[in-house]
Amino acid sequence: MNSCPFCGAREVGRIGRERYYCRDCCHEWTRGGGEVKIYEVMSDGSVEPLITECEPISRVVSRPAVRRAG
Ligand SMILES: [Zn+2]
Repeated sequence: MNSCPFCGAREVGRIGRERYYCRDCCHEWTRGGGEVKIYEVMSDGSVEPLITECEPISRVVSRPAVRRAG
C-alpha cells in the first residue's frame, strides 16, 4: 500500500517509476531498493532533499515544561 511517509496520507500520486507525490503535505519521495527518500517541493517547483535515510522522521523539538520560580 502506498501512503505518504511524511504525513501518512493515502492520497498520493505516482509521478514516476519510483517516485510519488503527496498533495496533503506537498512532498515527493522515491522508493529505490527499499530506501525511502523524501523531497520537499519548493514554491518554484524545485525539490530539495529533506531527510536522510538515517535520520528519524519524528524529530520533534519538545521542551519539558519546567517552571522556574524567581
Ligand atoms: Zn504527505
